[in-house]
Amino acid sequence: MKKTVIANWKMCGTPDSSKAWAQEFTAQLSGTTAKSEIVVCPPFPLISILKEALGESPVKLGAQNCHIQPEGAYTGETSALLLNALGCEYVIVGHSERRAQCGESSDIVRQKATRAIKTGLIPVICIGETATQRENGKTLDIINQQIEESLPFEAAAGNFILAYEPVWAIGSGNLPTMDEITQVHRAIITNVSKRIALDITQVSVLYGGSVKPDNAGEIMALPEVSGVLVGGASLKAEEFYKIAASC
Ligand code: PEP
Repeated sequence: MKKTVIANWKMCGTPDSSKAWAQEFTAQLSGTTAKSEIVVCPPFPLISILKEALGESPVKLGAQNCHIQPEGAYTGETSALLLNALGCEYVIVGHSERRAQCGESSDIVRQKATRAIKTGLIPVICIGETATQRENGKTLDIINQQIEESLPFEAAAGNFILAYEPVWAIGSGNLPTMDEITQVHRAIITNVSKRIALDITQVSVLYGGSVKPDNAGEIMALPEVSGVLVGGASLKAEEFYKIAASC
């Protein structure tokens, strides 16, 4: 199956830098057959600018968050409906930075994922353990609890993606071993496939956390890994292209 490679630009980028990124990335991509599904999630104000700059390229757009309600008096928030209208096909929900910095509970994450699905967006639902939880041998307990609380009842084949992002691996340069990634992904796939009665081949789980051009190929070669979610290394078009091309 086609791997999915998602860029999470976080709170980085300007109109000029995103136009330059699109120009460089599409130039690298042209003349090659994109083997992966490539998605870029810029900050909200850059979505339309990036969409125009990407033109006819196969690169898809996503966002980094959405609100649980369809619309209304929620100052400073952005609806899934608007993201859809702007051309987004994906939305990241439950990123560990939002869970930690904005106090997003798994229940809120589930409601956001539900709203995304109901609006026709694919939620990329992030789960992952902290360093302390890992040191205490709690990785699988945490993962299973986050799945139970964050996976929407509306989840069905092809309408959602999970991203396993160990919190301690994000932005640190530290990665789990390939064996550890395999074990956790297997546990996620088993849990989700039983929970919503899917074949294991229908459960997509991305890996995220310090993915770089020099480790992306090895990670994406793991059969349990459906692709990667990339933060820091996605900000440079050349690095992100190398990651996208390494599957
Ligand atoms: C992320 O924040 O989703 C992420 C994967 O970051 P990085 O690639 O920088 O570790």
